[in-house]
Amino acid sequence: AGTLFLVPTPIGNLGDMSPRAVETLQNVDLIAAEDTRNTQKLLNHFEIKTKQISFHEYNTKERLPQLLDKLRQGLSLAQVSDAGMPSISDPGSELVQACIAASIRVVPLPGPNAALTALIASGLCPQPFLFYGFLSRKNTERKNELAELAAQQVSLIFYEAPHRLVKTLQSLVTAFGGERKVVLCRELTKRYEEFIRGTLPEALEWAQSSQVKGEFVLIVEGNPQKEEDKPQIVLPLEDQVRLLIE
Ligand code: SAM
Repeated sequence: AGTLFLVPTPIGNLGDMSPRAVETLQNVDLIAAEDTRNTQKLLNHFEIKTKQISFHEYNTKERLPQLLDKLRQGLSLAQVSDAGMPSISDPGSELVQACIAASIRVVPLPGPNAALTALIASGLCPQPFLFYGFLSRKNTERKNELAELAAQQVSLIFYEAPHRLVKTLQSLVTAFGGERKVVLCRELTKRYEEFIRGTLPEALEWAQSSQVKGEFVLIVEGNPQKEEDKPQIVLPLEDQVRLLIE
């Protein structure tokens, strides 16, 4: 059988395309792309001649068996999304699962990803973290999602579209209160890369008073652990006894 390669692509800066990613796209028989027109620009830039087939959330059902057939016949396939890592808030995971079930080799390449790029520059605690991706667009669902996340003591990573940023920050202030820190990581790896740091209300104020443009990752500080909730350090019995005697 063939191999499925998972190939990350730049999130804005073409210089982030790795030599191995280029070589893989050159060498595979077929590229399964989220948007073939978008990926064609990348292929043209790197003079890659490999043929593409579209694979996105609206044709997954019909495409999946076709792609599996090709892999079973021995063809090698690369999966790419519009930007960053396939499967991360992008199409991909169904194909990976199907390949694993069919004992087809899956080879992931490391590379660009907006979430981790934002996290390492945020200045907020880098681990543990929870990657959430996009919150629901439906009010009630989003409220429920945030109610569950409010107790999390780990850094939270969200993706959001620019035209929804104000609304999402409003929901975050309502669900998490006014104290928590947030970093809005804008246009990562691009010319107007920018980090807006502050509390949730401060970030909301920024978003309301600016023309919000570009792509954003939000890193939100986890729920600060209260003193009384921290686990008590219990000494082993013999140490307790020794302390009493001393
Ligand atoms: N698969 C991608 C990855 O590995 O990061 C994510 C794809 S998701 C459909 C697109 C979202 O990722 C955007 O709405 C934005 O939240 C975030 N994003 C992608 N590129 C970005 C960039 N250059 N700067 C900031 N956020 C970015």
